[in-house]
Amino acid sequence: RLTRRGGASAPEAAAESPGRDLSTLPGLRDIEMVREAGAALGLESPYFRPHDGVAGAHSVIGGRDCVNFASYNYIGLNGDPRVAAAAKAAIDRHGVSASASRLASGERPVHGELEAALAANYEAEACLAFVSGHATNVTVIGHLLGARDLILHDQLIHNSVAEGARLSGARRIAFPHNDWRAAERELAAHRARHGRALIVIEGHYSMDGDVPDLGRFAEMARRHDALLMVDEAHGLGVLGATGRGSFEQCGVEPGAVDIWMGTLSKTLSGCGGYIAARRPLIELLRHSAPGFVYSVGLAPPLAAASLESLRVMQAEPERVARLQGNAALFLALAREAGFDTGASAGLGIVPVILGSSVAAARMAAALFEAGVNVQPILFPVVPERAARLRFFLSSEHTEEDILRTVAALVAARDGLRAG
Ligand code: PMP
Repeated sequence: RLTRRGGASAPEAAAESPGRDLSTLPGLRDIEMVREAGAALGLESPYFRPHDGVAGAHSVIGGRDCVNFASYNYIGLNGDPRVAAAAKAAIDRHGVSASASRLASGERPVHGELEAALAANYEAEACLAFVSGHATNVTVIGHLLGARDLILHDQLIHNSVAEGARLSGARRIAFPHNDWRAAERELAAHRARHGRALIVIEGHYSMDGDVPDLGRFAEMARRHDALLMVDEAHGLGVLGATGRGSFEQCGVEPGAVDIWMGTLSKTLSGCGGYIAARRPLIELLRHSAPGFVYSVGLAPPLAAASLESLRVMQAEPERVARLQGNAALFLALAREAGFDTGASAGLGIVPVILGSSVAAARMAAALFEAGVNVQPILFPVVPERAARLRFFLSSEHTEEDILRTVAALVAARDGLRAG
């Protein structure tokens, strides 16, 4: 029997043509199970909640003002009038879209200006901006390394790095978190059998808020003729006295790192990613990285917004100091209240580790009720026993926001213990 449009009805399609049955796609059942588990616990999904207005230190969700710890507004530039004005001026001048790959006809002056400013932050010879942070890691790692090569990455590395490593076809080894000695042992054992070796770490880990010993990693990479790549997605604007990133925090020359990667979507309140490195590497990427060559150029208003954000960051380092002060205060109060904050350095990201996904989901729901928006991070994103609430601090949170939030955490914990 055919439907009115001439196709088979859904159940029949499944029976006749299992390869076209979309309800058996791997992973769908897991999503359903999580939804069912949430419903059984009486919890609303914490995902895809629409926010209204700017994602700032406060955000309007479902018509309610919430203290917001779930957006990357580290130095408070989301909605900054100077950043918005830069984006609007770029739209007036260039329109919204770059309308072509930059290699073809998408290049605009603001691309080069942004790249020069980012390169200067890292004292790098050159920089290249991409349309997405995630895509930057995937395409750059996937393109630079090949089957003969070796990639060593921290076991907590971001998904985008893991995806890029997989795409490259290189041999991949994950080493224990922040353990440069373990990484060195792997290099000593395997380096000789491979062409190039790449070590990838984050400058500031997004789930834990801790910082690697960058100097040790850099020395070790050099000793073993390996390239070192650092993902600074959560480093720029957060680490170091003026927000330049992990090298400033760790007192390391930026040239000790071969490949700096970052995103425009966090401190720089735009959207996109970038690589800052020595010129030959950038030259290669500009002409042949698939995610650059075969993708549209970064939208001019986003490039302009990020450039303006970087200028504000440089001109107003007190924003970085306020962020770090807020994170340190939140960390100290949460610890004092007996919460497990893991290895957080208290610079911008603080996890509150609750030991199970159910506990984390319940705490997030109770906090949301109390007007605090924080994302629960559940299994399988982290191991079950490490399920947590992850707090992104902002320079714009007030002391009152932080005191209120820790009080709400304590009340939620007491409520769940009693219930
Ligand atoms: N790297 C890390 C460490 C990240 O946390 C993220 C995003 N959360 C990315 C890369 C990807 O960046 P974007 O969201 O800008 O695509």
